[in-house]
Amino acid sequence: MNNVFQKISINEFVAQTIKGNPDLKAVDLKKDLEEFKKRKSQGELCDCGNPIWIIGSAITGKGCFTCITGESDCSDDYEIG
Ligand SMILES: [Zn+2]
Repeated sequence: MNNVFQKISINEFVAQTIKGNPDLKAVDLKKDLEEFKKRKSQGELCDCGNPIWIIGSAITGKGCFTCITGESDCSDDYEIG
């Protein structure tokens, strides 16, 4: 990954995501974000060896940005920070 994510807080991201996806449950999304944030801070990595992407992992299952999106440019995307 050559680029840097835009940082967002868990609460901001949940509010933004729920607005666009009313089917998602804020409580569940927040719980998953907190879980992957904890796992990342404990040094857990994607199966490919890259750091996990908290936001993508919370939504689609554990992975890094590249494994989840197939892209390497993350400058238009958010990460919890
Ligand atoms: Zn990966």
